[in-house]
Parts: sequence; structure tokens; C-alpha cells
Amino acid sequence: MIFDIMTLFPESIDLFLSESIIGRARDNNIIEIRTHNIRDFSENKHKKTDDYPYGGGTGMVMTAQPIYDCWKHIKKDLTYSPLTVYMSPQGKVLTQSTAKRLSKEKHIIILCGHYEGVDERVLEEIVDEEISIGDYVLTGGELPAMVLIDCISRMVDGVLPSEDAYQDESHYDGLLEYPQYTRPQVFLSKSVPDVLLSGHHAKIEKWRFEKKVETTRRKRPDLYQKYKNCLEKNELI
Ligand code: SAM
Repeated sequence: MIFDIMTLFPESIDLFLSESIIGRARDNNIIEIRTHNIRDFSENKHKKTDDYPYGGGTGMVMTAQPIYDCWKHIKKDLTYSPLTVYMSPQGKVLTQSTAKRLSKEKHIIILCGHYEGVDERVLEEIVDEEISIGDYVLTGGELPAMVLIDCISRMVDGVLPSEDAYQDESHYDGLLEYPQYTRPQVFLSKSVPDVLLSGHHAKIEKWRFEKKVETTRRKRPDLYQKYKNCLEKNELI
């Protein structure tokens, strides 16, 4: 899977996405992440990429030309059309199921905005989907792009050791994960639940499922309600 990221700050992204599981997936050529500095495509003699907003107001707006030319550069020579995503606080909020859907794409171009945002005309021209990482405003789209790529990549075949590694986790089936324990068996007089030491797989599975339901009901009643509604209607989350 290929990610092309259009940004004014490629270094910040390269550093983070070279570490840990994502770094290994890149080394093993399972995912390819390329960053493109939008500034390199500016036709302005000072390589400017922003300007004052028409109509007045504070802050600067990213100009359309360098973004459009950067996007065209990424797409040149391709025989297919990659999905173009704009990281934006105005987009649909990212969920596990959105990430699951996007993990089936073969190529995603991601635009990171900055300052007051991006000239609307280039967004209209190139963007297929706007995605937000939550209902709050950040300085730029770089952190959101890293969040999106991390979340999608974990579900790309070969990135984690097996599908269980992400299918067992919170949000995959609409529930939160069960509590996890590791050694030592007793910590601060608290013992690991007996069932986990029993070696009885069916009982462990049953306990884990019950804990998932209980944890979701306690920590995220909104998700629990959604899960119950889906069960009642026999729908998949
Ligand atoms: N003026 C814009 C508005 O009110 O909708 C906010 C611009 S924000 C300061 C600058 C850039 O950060 C955006 O263009 C976007 O790329 C990114 N950004 C900020 N918050 C985000 C969020 N919650 N999710 C995704 N991207 C975000």
C-alpha cells in the first residue's frame, strides 16, 4: 500500500513514521510512505505557499497552485486514480471502520493543511474525502495524517503478525477490549484472574467476551448502546 503525503513539514512526518511497527513495515516494503514538500512546487519566486484571506481576517491561507501541482506530480504516470484525503477538522471523524475500509485501498494521497486552512478551490478539485481525527482544531494536518496512516497500516496484510492482533482490539467489533495481564502473577496483592491461569481456552474466551461487554458498558455507554442496537437489529457494526 502506498501513502503519498503532501505537507509543508515533511521532516516531522518522516521521523515518526520510521519507528516501531510502521517503520518495520516500510523496511519490509509492505507499505510505502512518501512525503512531498508542497513548497517545492511553488511558482512564487520566494517559494511562498500562503497568502492573505480574501475578505480579511486573521491568519494566512495555503494557496492553491503549489498544492495542485504537487498533486499532479504524484499522479503523473499512474494508470489509476488514488484516493485523495484532506485531513480537516471539518471532515467525518475517523473511526476504526473507516480505517478498515481505507486499508483496502492500494494508494492514498493525503493533504495536510496549515495556518487557517487551504484555498477552497483546490480542495474542490482534488479531494475525495475529508477526514478529521476529532472535534477539536490542531495547528496542522501532519499529526492527523500520522494518526490516519498508523491506524490504517495496522490493518494492512503483513504489518502485524496476524489478523487477530487487530481484530481482538478495542473498536474492531464495536466493543472495547477485555483487561490484559502479564507477569508477575501477583502485583500489590492483586492476583491475575484465576480463569486466565486455567489453560481452559473456552472458559477464557467466555470470560474475555463478558469483560468486553462489561468494560464497554462502564467506560463507553454510548458505544454499548450502539452495540446493543445493532445486535437487536441483527446488523454488523
Ligand atoms: N480554519 C480551519 C477551520 O476552522 O476549519 C482550521 C485550520 S487548522 C488551524 C489547520 C490545518 O490543520 C487544517 O487545514 C487541517 O489540515 C489540520 N487540522 C486541524 N485540526 C484537525 C483535525 N481535528 N483533524 C484533521 N486535521 C486537522
